[in-house]
Amino acid sequence: MEWCRELPKIELHAHLNGSVRDSTLLELAKDLGEKGVIAFADVVHVIMKNGRSLPECFKLFDLYHLLTTDHQTVTRITKEVIEDFAAENVVYLELRTTPKKNEAKGMTKCSYMKAVIDGIRAVDTVDVDFVTSGTSNVNCSEATPLNCIGSPIKRKKIYVRLLLSIDRRETTAAALETVNLAMDLKNFGVVGIDLSGNPVIGEWQTFLPALKHAKELGLPITLHCGEVPNHKEIQAMLDICPQRIGHACFLVEEEWKRVKFLKIPVVEICLTSNIRTGRFSSIYDHFFADLYKAKHQVALCTDDSGLFSTTLSNEFYLAASTFGVSIHHLSLQSKHIIWQVLHKIYWVVSSYTGLNKDEMFLLARSAIQSTFADDEVKHELTKIYDDAANRLI
Ligand code: IMP
Repeated sequence: MEWCRELPKIELHAHLNGSVRDSTLLELAKDLGEKGVIAFADVVHVIMKNGRSLPECFKLFDLYHLLTTDHQTVTRITKEVIEDFAAENVVYLELRTTPKKNEAKGMTKCSYMKAVIDGIRAVDTVDVDFVTSGTSNVNCSEATPLNCIGSPIKRKKIYVRLLLSIDRRETTAAALETVNLAMDLKNFGVVGIDLSGNPVIGEWQTFLPALKHAKELGLPITLHCGEVPNHKEIQAMLDICPQRIGHACFLVEEEWKRVKFLKIPVVEICLTSNIRTGRFSSIYDHFFADLYKAKHQVALCTDDSGLFSTTLSNEFYLAASTFGVSIHHLSLQSKHIIWQVLHKIYWVVSSYTGLNKDEMFLLARSAIQSTFADDEVKHELTKIYDDAANRLI
């Protein structure tokens, strides 16, 4: 596990509100409890509970949003989430969040994003690189890069880029507003658009105009795809050729063929999230090994590190310890039982050291090409991995 923590990592699928610390949520809940806005005793056990179904997760997000959606708190959680990822040696974070409107709090989608950007600026435990270049129509305070060039003490550095999410509950107009805002904030580290939210809510046709608009504007797209077995929607999603897709739990063979043939969608894989929400009854049923063996581009991600009590180091460790043997010797589906026995023996004999570290390193490094960052950042990330290679493999 220590090796996985030391490994420089790239996080491509992390939702801001899903990554909030439990301790912060409890503090915020207590505060709102004292103000009489919520009944603290009722929400404590909900926040602390593990093993949630997908519908339960979305109920919980409504609670999270009640706790976090004011400018000051959005700034706070953004700062904390970035610091938490940096502590895990995440060197590049593409953080996604849904710009929110809340008239009662004087919040617009734009002011929500300003609060997020303020949170990035507020990080002081590590150096942050998030601003790209130039200026913007949106007044989001001074556009000065935060990385302390020339600082005498070498500190950790994290590249932070933002994806703006369209929530499946939103209207076409709201989705278009998010895309236009993303375009306005391109010089503030916004690099793309995500479609997320409860997968049983909303119609594809509602979001399509905004996604097409994003494509026309040259904004890369990643879609939560196949979280439920809605094959009509999966087809439609693949039709627009997104740069990446996330989850992809319910794709059937034909759809996988198409994904592999198109060679376009990079699959953002969130193992713990997929298991905790019951998308796979066992981690051994997960399609990760199949895609990896097919040399399809995959990226390990956390999804909601707070909600699912995980870290990106943990996701790498999980993949290493679960799939290390199968990747080389077994067909995952057909040899399920034998595989489980072998896996146990493997664990006892090698207690993890037998895993091919080269492969884990390359897996982490291969995510560079899947980022929505510009070439300069990709070049910097390559250098980070080159430096780390001597130490780690
Ligand atoms: P936010 O966008 O910062 O508010 O992060 C939380 C939001 O991300 C949730 O309300 C959902 O819309 C979305 N989200 C988080 N996890 C998932 C997931 O596993 N599937 C789909 N949407 C998700």
